[in-house]
Amino acid sequence: MSTNRFQALSELNYRQPQEPEAPKKRVSEYFGDNVFAYFKMREYLTDDAFEKLMDCIQNGSRIDRQTADHVAAAMKEWSIQKGATHYTHWFQPLTGSTAEKHDSFFKPIGDGRAIEKFDGSMLVQQEPDASSFPSGGIRNTFEARGYTLWDPSSPAFIVGNTLCIPTIFISYTSHALDYKMPLMKALHAVDQAATAVCQYFDKEVVKVNTSLGWEQEYFLIDSALYNVRHDIAMTGRALFGARPAKGQQLEDHYFGSIPERVLAYMQDFEYEAHLLGIPVTTRHNEVAPNQFELAPMFEEANLANDHNQLVMDVLEKTARKHNFRVLLHEKPFEGINGSGKHNNWSLSTNTGVNLLKPGKNPKSNMQFLTFLVNTIAAIYENADVLRASIASVGNDHRLGANEAPPAIMSVFLGEQLSAMLDDLEKNIKAGKMTPEDKTVLKLNIGKLPQVFLDNTDRNRTSPFAFTGNKFEFRAVGSSANCANAMIVLNTIVANRLHQFKKDVDARIEKGDDKDEAILKELQRLIKMSKAIRFEGNGYSDDWVKEAAKRGLSNMKDTPSALKVWKQKKVQEMFDRLNVLTPEEVHARYEIEVENYIRRREIEARVTVDIAMNHILPSALSYQSRLVENVLGLKDVLGAAEAKAATKTQVDLIKEISGNVNAMKSAIDKINLERNKLSKLDVEKQAEGYSLKVKPLMDEIRDNADALEMIVDDENWPLPKMREILFTR
Ligand code: ADP
Ligand code: MG
Repeated sequence: MSTNRFQALSELNYRQPQEPEAPKKRVSEYFGDNVFAYFKMREYLTDDAFEKLMDCIQNGSRIDRQTADHVAAAMKEWSIQKGATHYTHWFQPLTGSTAEKHDSFFKPIGDGRAIEKFDGSMLVQQEPDASSFPSGGIRNTFEARGYTLWDPSSPAFIVGNTLCIPTIFISYTSHALDYKMPLMKALHAVDQAATAVCQYFDKEVVKVNTSLGWEQEYFLIDSALYNVRHDIAMTGRALFGARPAKGQQLEDHYFGSIPERVLAYMQDFEYEAHLLGIPVTTRHNEVAPNQFELAPMFEEANLANDHNQLVMDVLEKTARKHNFRVLLHEKPFEGINGSGKHNNWSLSTNTGVNLLKPGKNPKSNMQFLTFLVNTIAAIYENADVLRASIASVGNDHRLGANEAPPAIMSVFLGEQLSAMLDDLEKNIKAGKMTPEDKTVLKLNIGKLPQVFLDNTDRNRTSPFAFTGNKFEFRAVGSSANCANAMIVLNTIVANRLHQFKKDVDARIEKGDDKDEAILKELQRLIKMSKAIRFEGNGYSDDWVKEAAKRGLSNMKDTPSALKVWKQKKVQEMFDRLNVLTPEEVHARYEIEVENYIRRREIEARVTVDIAMNHILPSALSYQSRLVENVLGLKDVLGAAEAKAATKTQVDLIKEISGNVNAMKSAIDKINLERNKLSKLDVEKQAEGYSLKVKPLMDEIRDNADALEMIVDDENWPLPKMREILFTR
């Protein structure tokens, strides 16, 4: 492993694209090979056990012990046949990554022999020694027990030689300690609320599913360079580095041809993903150099989210094989684009209708408008909660940083739809509607699909955009668990739909007919939520001013964004919909604030370390050389003549001193500030890290980056941005 910049750079000369391991077969021949999909279960299970399992998955019925035993035996047989020796409950604790604790199938039976054992009780529940996962005070240490419980709705899979069983993670007191449990509850909440509303239009609808199609952006850098950039290795982002002359200004990377070494990596990675049944279909370069994107076909949200968690893992593991490291941080490099994870979201019925796709006739379009308008209204009512769902230390660098969606939540609809809503708003009159009024309105609504079936009208600057048959939530961070955003989005939409049902029913009770009641309620919501709709350039300063005028909030950092979780009305909403109890909300709030502090603390310490121990010594040693040169010239030329001859050197010496002093003074201030903060409560600490420590880190960086432009290249210890971003 390389220990300095030049050694690392020389390793790059020997890099060759690795021969991909992916077999030259059709994907359909091995897709899902490592997944115990339902159609495979059918082979292994009795009809009765299979039916009970399906009933559990589709209708949430309980699984009895006997069925669990059957399923466990089937899983064991299938996975051992495929070479598995271990099993693990796979879960998503609030650390943000996934966790697993492998146990062996093999069990000694006492007479010198051993058997492979895996039964229903081992499948259904485990008790990992979980006291070191974040719990936000929910689990007192004296009962530091957490349980993982099997989620039958997400199929088991094999990684390496381990059978992985997707599970939820809860405390002894049944509080959620993970992302999966509240996600499943939020999906259930929106299912119930949306199904009830669908009943106005179609009595056949008994279930509404949420679909999620994520797009994952990431950076790749060579592992040799990664290893000598401690900042990137420890914090996921470059804390130092002068901007390279060439960044993304030529726009030559986006959709350019994929470098060979990267392509080999992608092929391997896709192979692994396909074995796991993850329907990855899209790959391309992104806007910034060394930035890429992949996207699968959308799936049911719980499964899609598991798949995204897995993908992040596979991306990292495969990268190492190809001498790359993958950076999932939201903003690894200042001055070029950051990475997001667009969450494409929609609702669809058991009858196969996408509720966010315009229909063919007035009735189906009424249904479409109902879900569209209620979604917009939900965002309007709970923009701050949605903002909080994407708050993280990494995303703070991305949101509002001129090429990412702003921290202001708004909804983009496109010209035609906006016009349609404006029309509805104006043309529904108070009081009883005449039959002619209704006919005209219905005709207009009926025209909808033709207008924008192939509407490619896109606004890339909007955080929440309607894209023809779904909404795309673009503000989600690239390293985030999508569940955080999906829990909030589905909960606030469920909340809105419940209210809609109540309000429409009330209008019907007062004598309106159904269509009239729905139209009037939609009109009211369109008026109410108008401020959240924005069609213009979300990256512009004008929008920031305009949004302030409209009363929309613009919470620029995580500590202020997270505060919404303390609001009683927010906690009550999550409680009412049975997604999170007030204790759980509070625990999550605490964990996220803590996480913010810890991450910034690490960044601050690494900043100080690199500035003091790497950059300052290099700058001073270069300065000494300049001093020697000046003294030498004086000796040779004499003071009078040397004055002119040493001008540049003397200027540089002074410049270096200026930057070094400024850097050192910011370092002293950071140390002092951190010391002060450590005595405050967590909320104040988080604020301090955002408002005081972060600006000091920037100051250190500015001076260090200035030094990088002065100091002899041979003397510079850290791989430079141009080396990191343009070597393959
Ligand atoms: P872009 O990069 O232009 O935003 P892509 O075509 O890369 O668009 O991504 C679109 C994403 O939207 C894909 O992941 C796709 O699976 C997903 N998607 C398409 N239809 C739906 C839907 N009904 N619900 C959820 N996601 C969807
Ligand atoms: Mg997208």
